[in-house]
Amino acid sequence: MNYHKQPFEQVVADKQSDPVGLSAADAAKRLLSHGPNSLYEAPPEPLWRKMTRQFSDPMIIMLIIAAAIAGLLQEPVDAIAILVIILVNAAIGFSQEYRAEKAMLALKGLAATHSTVLRDGQPLEILSENIVPGDIVLIETGQFIPADIRLGDVQLLRVDESALTGESLVVEKTAQPLENDVSLPDRKNMLYKGTIAAYGRGGGVVVATGMATELGKIAQLLNETSVSATPLQQRMQDFGRKIGWAVLAICAVVLVFGLLQGEPLFKMLLTSVALAVAAIPEALPAVITVALAIGAKCLAKRNALIKSMPAVETIGSITYICSDKTGTLTQNIMTAVEFSPVDYQQLFMAAALCNTVRRAADGLLGDPTETALFDAAMQKGFEKANLLEEYPLVAELPFDSERKLMSTIHRANGQYLVMIKGSAESVLSICGAEDVALRGKYFAEVEKLANDGLRVIAFAYKYLAELPLIITIETIETGACFSGLIGLIDPPRPEARAAVASCHAAGIIPVMITGDHPLTALTIAKNLNIANSESLVLTGKELGEYSDQELDAIVLKTRVFARVSPEQKLRIVQSLQRLDQFVAMTGDGVNDAPALKTANVGIAMGKAGTDVSREAAQMILLDDNFATIVNAVEEGRRIFDNIIKFIRYILPSNACEVLVVFLAPFFGLPLPLLPVQILWVNLVTDSLPCLALSLEPAEHGIMNKPPRPPQAGVFSDGTGKYIIVVGIVLTAILLGMQYFAVNNSGSHWQTMVFSTLCFAQLAHALAVRSRTESIFAIGFCSNKTMLFSVFGSVIAQLAIIYLPPLQLIFKTEALSLAELLIVVAISSVIFWLLEIWKYFCRNHKSQNSAITAPV
Ligand code: ADP
Ligand code: MG
Repeated sequence: MNYHKQPFEQVVADKQSDPVGLSAADAAKRLLSHGPNSLYEAPPEPLWRKMTRQFSDPMIIMLIIAAAIAGLLQEPVDAIAILVIILVNAAIGFSQEYRAEKAMLALKGLAATHSTVLRDGQPLEILSENIVPGDIVLIETGQFIPADIRLGDVQLLRVDESALTGESLVVEKTAQPLENDVSLPDRKNMLYKGTIAAYGRGGGVVVATGMATELGKIAQLLNETSVSATPLQQRMQDFGRKIGWAVLAICAVVLVFGLLQGEPLFKMLLTSVALAVAAIPEALPAVITVALAIGAKCLAKRNALIKSMPAVETIGSITYICSDKTGTLTQNIMTAVEFSPVDYQQLFMAAALCNTVRRAADGLLGDPTETALFDAAMQKGFEKANLLEEYPLVAELPFDSERKLMSTIHRANGQYLVMIKGSAESVLSICGAEDVALRGKYFAEVEKLANDGLRVIAFAYKYLAELPLIITIETIETGACFSGLIGLIDPPRPEARAAVASCHAAGIIPVMITGDHPLTALTIAKNLNIANSESLVLTGKELGEYSDQELDAIVLKTRVFARVSPEQKLRIVQSLQRLDQFVAMTGDGVNDAPALKTANVGIAMGKAGTDVSREAAQMILLDDNFATIVNAVEEGRRIFDNIIKFIRYILPSNACEVLVVFLAPFFGLPLPLLPVQILWVNLVTDSLPCLALSLEPAEHGIMNKPPRPPQAGVFSDGTGKYIIVVGIVLTAILLGMQYFAVNNSGSHWQTMVFSTLCFAQLAHALAVRSRTESIFAIGFCSNKTMLFSVFGSVIAQLAIIYLPPLQLIFKTEALSLAELLIVVAISSVIFWLLEIWKYFCRNHKSQNSAITAPV
């Protein structure tokens, strides 16, 4: 299409639209006929494929084949029972996977992008998905271009089109029609879906949405949706593979031994394959996925949206939180409270005119700094709308946190009036000679306001007889006249203080990073207890002069970074990382993206953030609130703790199943378990308690201990030892039980061993719920899912022992009351041993603990 060659008005007319936007009714109709503004996505994996995938594990396939052969040969009951168990297992796996997927999908919906369009003449924020051809869209710095757009209004708009053209230089946009038929990268009055507004503002009419856009045409090429495993999952996959070989070797030995002892071939084959299925922790990565996905869902409920699974794992081990001040630590509800005019008229004219606020149907639309100034000017009788009639807007140099300035140019009685606002340093640096002499006085005033925690905005103006040919920062923002200061109050968030305290207790250092004045920043940092009087405040200027080594020497002592530019945030992260810190960093602007990507956990703002920052981040704060980060850390620690708990639970169980079957012949004992029994125990004990453990509430004091070292593996911190010791103890209990039962209980012995295996694992599940505390302290009922799953499993096991049809399937015999009591008593040994162990650990710890909280 030749939209770039036509005048803007004509494109608007072509699209049967209007410069003030479509009507809501028209837009709704167009949405129906054109469909949503989204790219084609690969259809979800069909249900049947998801189900069959549950059987793709080679061990399961072997088991099915073995069971089928056994069934044909002699034992149909056995074979059917095994197949049923496999089916139930697959159903559980499937439903878990389904739940995890749904949770992740819901999160994706929450992360949808929004755009501002004109509807019925008013700006309105809508889901970018609902944009239709003909819509008038307003674009701001940091936004993803939501559709293909012909520009009608451009304020220094520069666009990063590398996603589409591969060209890394940003493109300067214009609203003028182009003469020639140029190729896509040179159509400077067009915006294309998927590119990024890197600077400035603009607006235009949508010419294509969804698959009709240029991006849509190549979307098939981009359709990659590979989900990579998280570090933890990878480690467990590697571990599972290694363990797998060991288990297979043992199973082979079991097979040979069984045959030598004269057991029938198929029984032994089934036994060893069932054993392998039960013992190889092949489901562990999947279970971890489920735990992480459920965790991500919990986090979303607490307003922390996780974009990548690894972030759920890592957020719990951060040691540093570098937080923005405005809006994250403060409420971002600004009110102008102090006015220090030099030229009253010019000060308030600038506050009104040099302002990006737009009136929408439901109030003002704009940054809180802007709305506060807009309101203040209005209260003094300076209405933006009225002033604009006398001083029509010609051009705008948008606010940029790098130069910390913004200006607008207005026509004024044949002349041009430039209205400038920004930080005091920036504004005074472009003011003319008269103001240079008074700088000292002005800065003293700035410091007075900043000392009260106020955000200080400085204003200046300038008249131009003519407009320069090309409007640039250099030609416009020089030789201005200072017109005064306005101090804005932005109170700290009430919950931030407690969150900061909780960071300190948890061994996490919170620091403030801001573009604001050092005194404003320090006042608020002191108020929140982030800094005290001795703490260092580092300014962007000083930071710029330091070498990396000099920065490293001082960074750990600094609690407030003021007047920093977004680029410097990256240096701060890198410096902290060189000093082995694990850093969470917040950001909202386009230029924050590199810092967010480099940080161990990049955190973007859900409300104030740009699309670019949200794309770069791993986590999005839906409420922009610092306290939410701290909540997320706690949640992350809980999730990781729980994953460790079920690893601690499941691996000794698996180990003991293999070892008992493997070792029994060495003690002159018969084959202790039948294949169905092994599979049953595996089914009952692996699935439900694991799920229950991932729902375990946070342990007391989870935020009163230092962060887990991020490099530490799963098996460090005693977990490896725990697995080995508990595995051996469980094996000993079972072999002891078998020895006793074979000698005392006649034909009931196998039922006793089988039930002990089941009950002992359930007892272990109860004890593993807390690493340090007694279950009597945390309460039996504090994890209802666990209670139900243990209770349900016990009932099911009793049914297997006592109900004749099940006896037939599982080859069990009814135990006498005395025998049952013996089984229960012996099974609970592991529980008591662990409780006693925890008791000693607690007492030992309380003598030499006392974590020192760093401040
Ligand atoms: P932060 O987001 O950390 O508070 P900013 O980069 O937004 O820092 O602001 C830095 C400084 O720039 C502020 O102290 C203020 O003086 C100035 N400033 C902030 N917002 C605007 C704006 N919209 N227009 C002009 N100047 C601004
Ligand atoms: Mg800001």
